[in-house]
Amino acid sequence: MIDSHCHLDPSVFGGDEGVDAVIARAHAAGVTQMLTVGSGYGFDSAARALAVARRHPNVRASVGLHPHDAKEFTDARFADLLGMADATEVLALGEMGLDFHYDSSPRDQQRMVFREQLRAARARALPVIIHDRDSGGETLRILDEEGAWDTGVLYHCYTGDVAQMHEIVARGGYISIPGIVTFKNAGEMQLVAQQVPEDRLLVETDSPFLTPVPHRGKKNEPAYVAHTLACVARLRGAEPGALDAATTATTRRFFRWEATS
Ligand SMILES: [Zn+2]
Repeated sequence: MIDSHCHLDPSVFGGDEGVDAVIARAHAAGVTQMLTVGSGYGFDSAARALAVARRHPNVRASVGLHPHDAKEFTDARFADLLGMADATEVLALGEMGLDFHYDSSPRDQQRMVFREQLRAARARALPVIIHDRDSGGETLRILDEEGAWDTGVLYHCYTGDVAQMHEIVARGGYISIPGIVTFKNAGEMQLVAQQVPEDRLLVETDSPFLTPVPHRGKKNEPAYVAHTLACVARLRGAEPGALDAATTATTRRFFRWEATS
């Protein structure tokens, strides 16, 4: 299995030793590869994600500026981020996008930082990981206006409805389902998980948060992606092993990611 989106941030998992233990438990659970997302835990989370990927060949990184942290944007910091984006361990830019639910940064700043990253990704032919919360379709419009679809667009932790999922897929986009799908009240997400075309479907933990059933109350970690995969397989009437083969192949194709043992 692959966890297509986690935050193996030493600041939340008890330093490098804690991160190494989490990765070892993932391996023991059959999760051979993980994408650690260096975005959303402060501006410095990009450098920390890259450092983890450099220590673990089976962990690759993305770097980006989360809408929550858009208020921290400066030209110098953005130049640093783009320097990291050129590292071989970095497979994508993000997560990036709009969050009008928490509004942790001013909306105009969120829009500007999102567009800057989309342009940088296009210039580097890197795929992007999208965070969209309550933007009322504006995230999709900006992706259209910036011509972002050609190099790969992944909506991570997709919480939108079925109709928007089809709009994303029609544009060539990808959808990643988190552990929320295992919750009792996740009706719309379960419909989405049933209907995403198999070649556009990924699974993720988004750890350390959003722990799937049956581990709710514990800190989330990549080993638990197995529960999300099993739940999505059940919803689709698929064999977990067959669905794993499909989501793993799709994840590798999307990120142009080689298999590791
Ligand atoms: Zn995330």
